Amino acid sequence: MATEQAAITRATFDEVILPIYAPADFIPVKGKGSRVWDQQGKEYVDFAGGIAVTALGHCHPALVEALKSQGETLWHTSNVFTNEPALKLGRKLVASTFAERVVFMNSGTEANETAFKLARHYASTRHSPYKSKIIAFNNAFHGRSFFTVSVGGQAKYSDGFGPKPADIIHVPFNDLHAVKAVMDDHTCAVVVEPIQGEGGVLAATPEFLKGLRELCDEHQALLVFDEVQSGMGRTGSLFAYQYYGVTPDILTSAKALGGGFPVSVVLTTEEIASAFHVGSHGSTYGGNPLACAVAGAAFDIINTPEVLGGVNAKRERFVKHLQKIDAEFDVFGDVRGMGLLIGAELKPQYKGRARDFLHAAAHEGVMVLNAGPDVMRFAPSLVVEDADIDEGMVRFAAAVKKIVG
Ligand SMILES: *Cc1c(COP(=O)(O)O)cnc(C)c1O
Repeated sequence: MATEQAAITRATFDEVILPIYAPADFIPVKGKGSRVWDQQGKEYVDFAGGIAVTALGHCHPALVEALKSQGETLWHTSNVFTNEPALKLGRKLVASTFAERVVFMNSGTEANETAFKLARHYASTRHSPYKSKIIAFNNAFHGRSFFTVSVGGQAKYSDGFGPKPADIIHVPFNDLHAVKAVMDDHTCAVVVEPIQGEGGVLAATPEFLKGLRELCDEHQALLVFDEVQSGMGRTGSLFAYQYYGVTPDILTSAKALGGGFPVSVVLTTEEIASAFHVGSHGSTYGGNPLACAVAGAAFDIINTPEVLGGVNAKRERFVKHLQKIDAEFDVFGDVRGMGLLIGAELKPQYKGRARDFLHAAAHEGVMVLNAGPDVMRFAPSLVVEDADIDEGMVRFAAAVKKIVG
């Protein structure tokens, strides 16, 4: 009983949670738009967006309304019974993308697990059981299940868990020659993030993605775009593939899809979807009515000219601020990414210190992210107010000054 009554503090984390994270030393308790408050009532500007998730800010009225109204109607049915919110959201996704079929899951990891299993199964049943090679990229991130972490291109995340899923090969990102050297008829899929998020906010070149499309067609392999981070308006297009004009065979999305409610989706064609049959794959929660009701409300707001069209003006405002900070303190090299997925690489003398900048920023009242040890990352709400951008950047500049000082 005593422990139940004791105050909940950051120390409680170390007492009860597995030590797989090192969360900041404060606990956020409330959010509204692009502002967040902690247990002590300190206020933060949120440029982290829960890692590119809260694309409409915190507690957007339309999402709150969708959650409340679905919460009073029907929470869960499992996939033994389908549900209206999932079917409505499915229709919207099909109407707005290349997809003819979709399936909902609960996280980016699960969407990718589904996509990779589908690609393997398609090749195995339509071509040959030996057509199983997956080509993926160094520094890629596709999730944390054993299959997805193995397709991801950072051995430090997949080592130490026993024998890895076989027939996965990694080559350098944006290097078409490297792909050509390993591509063959034995390849079932090429898996790529149009913009590597966790790997340092690196956008693919248009020629690279076009070249991958051609190589996949030549070898009857599927092109899989992981748009878990780049999707749902982040780049100013609904999906990054639409900006590039390169259409994948399978696309996964998650993060911003539910605006903070866990939900993910796999998009594909009817032909590829037909490789799966009843029982090939599944999920108890996937396409849950609560998740799909919230995602449906988020979709209706994000997929509008007002929101998508505002992304690049907001990006420019961010970049101007970053350039100003750099002019004063000489901290950033490359400022990169697309839309409101912004990376600012630290100059050589600050390499490895991204987490220090992140913590200093939080201290000054602005939440930011890193993407690896050398890159600061900003993934704010797509509707972040100009006044919030300006105020957050004043605070970020103060944090930079403290470190560079
Ligand atoms: C975040 C992310 C994932 C994993 O999503 P989870 O919801 O954490 O499982 C996969 N791929 C990309 C590109 C991501 O950014």
